[in-house]
Amino acid sequence: VNSVIETDAVIVGAGPVGLFQVFELGLLEIKAHVIDSLPVVGGQCVELYPDKPIYDIPAVPVCTGQELTDNLLKQIEPFEPTFHLNQEVTLVARREDNRFDLETSAGTRFITKTIFIAAGVGSFQPRTIKVDGIDQFDNTQLFYRVKDPVQFHGKNLVICGGGDSALDWALDLVGKAESVVLLHRREEFRAAPASVAKMKALCEAYEMQFLVGQVTGHEAKDGKLSEIKVTGPDGVTRRLPLDTLLVFFGLSPKLGPIAEWGLDIERKQLRVVDTEKFETNVPGIFAVGDINTYPGKKKLILSGFHEAALAAFGAAPYIFPDKKIHMQYTTTSPKLHKILGVE
Ligand code: FAD
Repeated sequence: VNSVIETDAVIVGAGPVGLFQVFELGLLEIKAHVIDSLPVVGGQCVELYPDKPIYDIPAVPVCTGQELTDNLLKQIEPFEPTFHLNQEVTLVARREDNRFDLETSAGTRFITKTIFIAAGVGSFQPRTIKVDGIDQFDNTQLFYRVKDPVQFHGKNLVICGGGDSALDWALDLVGKAESVVLLHRREEFRAAPASVAKMKALCEAYEMQFLVGQVTGHEAKDGKLSEIKVTGPDGVTRRLPLDTLLVFFGLSPKLGPIAEWGLDIERKQLRVVDTEKFETNVPGIFAVGDINTYPGKKKLILSGFHEAALAAFGAAPYIFPDKKIHMQYTTTSPKLHKILGVE
């Protein structure tokens, strides 16, 4: 059993707004734990457009999604946030002492005074394959991520998808698996051209196979997935025997468990009661960034940064009930210089 982490603030989501929330809380001397379902920080900026330029971050004429994330990480360094990645927040419940119990899918448990939901468009989950009944083989013969590649050695594998994950795993497992078939719905790939070239060379050397088509059915024998049916561009459906199916259709965001925490939800977004504190209908839970909605809301990084600043001031009385909180300038405040470690 994991021990419980007692803290003042938990931030759900490590996108740009969750990261900047660490900074704004830090200036008020509030330490934060940050949770994200993805294995990396940066949210949409890193998951959807790491190399694309952003032009509307104030005073940064241009930076990529990855650069913005790296700079935010550098900016929050003095506050030493603790990251808990690869885990989704599954439970939030009010305690009798007015704090919150919060738990993740990895079994990490917190008791916290405040929660900042910076969950963007929701937690990114693998897109599933749409074939009736095939989900009964989830995690036994059908996989959407690879945790332990060794379990696929010696197996007859079919790998679906045309992006980097599909290509990278096909190239990794070829020669270790008994056989590898890459299946993609068309001839064109989203993956790096070098990986595609490597894959084609391996096919020419009969080390693996590439098929164009889609999975349209399956067959089971003795309760085990024995073959899939693949419909090609010619409209013909062929049978393909296999031991294991790996599917990499990309990630799509799901609001998921957030819908069950008693928060006011309007069209998959959390309604905040005012734009003074960005607090939700549940006192002590704040919503910042793309996840929130209020009159005039714009889903921009810049708006999320502003919301994070006001939410931090809004939350401070829960953490320091007896302290008067003053706004200070980072330029001139000796106290903030100390906090930032720039004395
Ligand atoms: P997100 O970036 O969505 O991050 C939320 C994080 O929360 C995710 O990492 C998710 O995994 C995590 N999460 C969700 N639920 C849970 C849970 N239950 N448990 C654990 N973790 C969870 N904005 C601009 O201002 N300028 C631009 O030029 C611009 N260009 C864009 C281009 C593209 C292609 C896209 C898609 C968006 C663009 N945006 C731009 C929008 C911008 O990316 C978003 O406004 C911003 O990412 C919102 O940040 P966020 O931190 O609120 O949420």
